Amino acid sequence: MDNQDNFSRRNAIKLGLGTAAATMVSSGASAANPADPKTMFKVPQVFIPIADQKEQFPVRRIYCIGRNYAAHAREMGSDPTREPPFFFQKPTDAIQYVAPNTIGDHPYPTLTNNYHYEVELVAAIHIGGRDIKMENALNHVWGYALGLDMTRRDLQRAMGDQKKPWEIGKSFDHSAPIGPLFPVSKIGHFKEGNIQLSVNGVVKQKSDLKQMIWSVAEQIVKLSEANELFPGDIIYSGTPENVGPVVRGDVIRCQIQKLPDLVIKIV
Ligand code: MN
Repeated sequence: MDNQDNFSRRNAIKLGLGTAAATMVSSGASAANPADPKTMFKVPQVFIPIADQKEQFPVRRIYCIGRNYAAHAREMGSDPTREPPFFFQKPTDAIQYVAPNTIGDHPYPTLTNNYHYEVELVAAIHIGGRDIKMENALNHVWGYALGLDMTRRDLQRAMGDQKKPWEIGKSFDHSAPIGPLFPVSKIGHFKEGNIQLSVNGVVKQKSDLKQMIWSVAEQIVKLSEANELFPGDIIYSGTPENVGPVVRGDVIRCQIQKLPDLVIKIV
């Protein structure tokens, strides 16, 4: 018996349990209620509030499409012909919810000297599936929100130059500010309409959702070929051109028609 076994046994004895009894207790507990196992600690589930409802939307995965507006693809140095779309993920807990009519304090992240905004329409999935067909794709969308795909551009570029993963440039704490979700039943789908971002009142990004290279429906089709989609998945649908840097003190205001403005202050 090694030290660790001794330690476990001593603790079991201290608790008034033989080793066998302790094992039975723990396996019995998980067998009785496998959906709610006893865990060492709780990991919080991430939610996005739904406008005018108490019920919230639980987030499973955050998918983001890259270079989905032609002019943005060009400014990133790539050819915006219809090469197959590509996706990356952010960790679920990168969500920073910002309520309408408030200014979210957004921390300037570590490790970067070139911190960029990317305003994006976000689609929220409530019906999963794989190999979803184009004609059904939008039926999988429960609703939409306005979001920011915040990016440590210097790190993203450096990693790209070295043919390494983008992750450190895209997938970090607080990198996904988002407003409340609005159901399709109330606001419909977003196939066109103004998408805009200003910094300290100066318009920086301004385009139309119809300029997307791959529509939200096409993104769902393509994503579901790579991964089975599940309820709770959300998709950041890409940013238009004129991304740029912010510094501490800057206020970013995002706008898409029919959605409340999303506003953050870099702190
Ligand atoms: Mn983006």
